[in-house]
Amino acid sequence: MCGVFAISSSDIQNAGEKVIEGLKKLEYRGYDSWGVATSDTIIKQVGKISESTSHFPPDTKAIGHSRWATHGGVTKENSHPHKYKSVILVHNGIFENYLTEKERLLEKGEVFVSNTDSEVIAHLIQEQLDLSHNIKSAIQNVAQMIIGRFSIIVMVEGYNEIFVARRGSPLIIGRGKDQYAHTTFVASDIPAFLEYTNIVNYIDDDEMAIIHNDHVTFYDLDSGKEKEKRNIEVSWKEEIADKGEYNHFMIKEIFDQKQSLTAAINHTDQEIKNFISDLQSGNGVYMIACGTAHKVCIAAEYYFSYIAGRKINVVPASEMPAFERFINKKTILFAVSQSGETADILEVLEFGKKRGAKILSITNVESSSIARISDNHLSIHAGKEKAVASTKATTSQMALLLLLAYADNNRLNAGRLVLQDLASNVNDLLNPRYEKYIKSVAETLKDSNNIFIIGRNSLYPIALESAIKIMEVSYIHAQGFAAGEMKHGPIALIEKNSPCIVLGCDNETISNAIELKSRGAKIIGVASENHMIFDQWLKIPSAGTAISIASVLPIQILSYYLATLRGLDPDMPRNLAKSVTVK
Ligand code: GLU
Repeated sequence: MCGVFAISSSDIQNAGEKVIEGLKKLEYRGYDSWGVATSDTIIKQVGKISESTSHFPPDTKAIGHSRWATHGGVTKENSHPHKYKSVILVHNGIFENYLTEKERLLEKGEVFVSNTDSEVIAHLIQEQLDLSHNIKSAIQNVAQMIIGRFSIIVMVEGYNEIFVARRGSPLIIGRGKDQYAHTTFVASDIPAFLEYTNIVNYIDDDEMAIIHNDHVTFYDLDSGKEKEKRNIEVSWKEEIADKGEYNHFMIKEIFDQKQSLTAAINHTDQEIKNFISDLQSGNGVYMIACGTAHKVCIAAEYYFSYIAGRKINVVPASEMPAFERFINKKTILFAVSQSGETADILEVLEFGKKRGAKILSITNVESSSIARISDNHLSIHAGKEKAVASTKATTSQMALLLLLAYADNNRLNAGRLVLQDLASNVNDLLNPRYEKYIKSVAETLKDSNNIFIIGRNSLYPIALESAIKIMEVSYIHAQGFAAGEMKHGPIALIEKNSPCIVLGCDNETISNAIELKSRGAKIIGVASENHMIFDQWLKIPSAGTAISIASVLPIQILSYYLATLRGLDPDMPRNLAKSVTVK
């Protein structure tokens, strides 16, 4: 999702350019336009910041934004920063009730240059500032008017400071050191400033800060009372944005799975047992996730059912309000998120916390909001995932959840053996010959309008996930079904040469594949053994209970090549954001 970045410094003279550099580090989050403001210059552009050669007059402070449009089209006017009179603002999030305020301000005769919700915040701050002449209370008052989630960074003409506030969207402060000892950075994610410092302060919800060079004062956003903050040293080394020998991050990250599966289960027995004992302590478990992680959770529903005899309720976070009435202090809310910043999930967890539910989570970012709100958290240790389409984080989440299912059944060691075996088979499987073969299969599918995917048991969620992967990077319409469901409707769409990916080669799935083939479908089998029904075969290692994890791999490579063969950039698909910090 969009990124914010700001600098207040007396060491840095070219803050505008440095903010552009910082925004480039947040590019992987996904965005459609960007902008940077110094005290007297604002540059905004639609498109990629990596191509920017913009220059600013020398300045020691600047704020910047990469926008993922929610309110108002992707235009230069709608991109941030927004300026109204003396207030310059960037905003991440959604101001849900902005229209009411906008109408009121329009009646007062104020003029808006964008269609965004965010510009209204700039007007409101100016309105409050005109009334009180106190910028801190102006921001506090405006925060009270906003229904929704936000992180904002504000500069005001005539003030040396920059002002930041947060409710729900990520915001982290980096405290400069060494040659940047008189500099403070603000960003929505640590990598944006990690080249300068690894000392951070986390701004929590309903907090604000006033920043001038190395002076940072924190306040409660409601009461305005000053707050103490600990300086935290983050150990996470910046991963150089280096694709190495690969053309894209997506394919690099697919090959990272040679190591990441092992890293995912690199937790002590005690850590796993503690997590499981928390899971067992409740009276019902809801797994909450979005997108690919939601499909991972459905896979986990099968793992826990088959391996541990436990029923888990899996709900997409955005649908959870329908079930909130069932959340109480005996409920376990178990969130799975790559970034740990997903707004839809955070909203459920915040609600659950108020109800006294226990919060468990698995993320790839230990310092994330979801990790921090949790009573118990496990990291998947996958390393930075930059491509928008999740690959290694997906299989790492699955591996850790499979291990947890074994642990829930008191068979932690058996689970470790299954996953170690899988990791070593994946290491053998992922080689250039395999990649080349899958590319040749992609050649035959790249002009398809539709691709169908079927799977049964724990391969059913993989059918759903495969469809997401293919769609998001290649823009080919793809749809996953439970293998037995095709004949209840979708089979009407099958005609001569309709591509159908069949996950697994158990007897029942093969029967379903034959039903499709009888209607002209072309069958692409994903299995450890070839089968006469398959027109093309994507081999996977035999992986026992981890078959769902093994089956994801060829689909990831296939999706990658479907995208590149169609001339698309798989790392930054249109309209998508990596970490979805708006509802
Ligand atoms: N809602 C704001 C807009 O559409 C901010 C979106 C974002 O977080 O990038 O401009």
